[in-house]
Amino acid sequence: MDQEQLRKRLEFYRDLGVEQIYRRGVQEPVASGPPAAAVTAPAAKAPTPVDIVLPSLAPDNDTLAQIRADIGECRRCRLCEQRKNIVFGVGNESARLVFVGEGPGADEDEQGIPFVGRAGQLLTQMIENTAAKEGIHIKRSDVYICNVVKCRPPENRTPQPDEMEICGQFLYRQLMTIRPKAICALGATAMKALLSSKLGITKMRGEWQKWNEIPLMITYHPSYLLRQYNQQAKREAWEDLKKVLHFAYD
Ligand code: SF4
Repeated sequence: MDQEQLRKRLEFYRDLGVEQIYRRGVQEPVASGPPAAAVTAPAAKAPTPVDIVLPSLAPDNDTLAQIRADIGECRRCRLCEQRKNIVFGVGNESARLVFVGEGPGADEDEQGIPFVGRAGQLLTQMIENTAAKEGIHIKRSDVYICNVVKCRPPENRTPQPDEMEICGQFLYRQLMTIRPKAICALGATAMKALLSSKLGITKMRGEWQKWNEIPLMITYHPSYLLRQYNQQAKREAWEDLKKVLHFAYD
């Protein structure tokens, strides 16, 4: 890690509220130069490479309750300014499948629960109807549902990269704690938070990707599917969901 990367990483930790960083002791190299008699001029001292070990982004024995407690009454990014409730996540804490959306809307902000508005009702129908048709016995409460950012962006705008980066720390910990069999990213923002691909969602959806060794399926956000003209996208989303449900629950 060079100095610039280190500086950015430390700024990132500071934004997360991490004030102190543990650094393992560094062993001084043992001098092994030529015998003193052979030395003719003092050699310039080369900088000693230092292997800096930064703390893990997901502490050992992490739990969802601990992550929620660490979020507290969070003011780490500007999305705190207009939110009513922090929308952490809902569902089975040992779920085989986690859905990740973009951020809370007005209904979610009001109730503090993700995916409870129109798009949320569609997601519930999609999960439960597709599972029933495919002979998979699950309800919405069997999966876990959360978002990239936990506070509602004003006017439902797309979260900005710095907001996603700061709040993404908590998403990372949620996913590492649950360690589901599969993740389903809903929409382009969730896709960007979990993958570094530059391709658009139409190119990425429907094919398995990986996030930290966990299979990841990308599909459309339900609010996109609510628009009348997106019949083709709806069919595709249902196909994606079938794949992910069978993978997680067969
Ligand atoms: S969006 Fe996330 S980081 Fe920003 S204030 Fe809310 S909980 Fe904190």
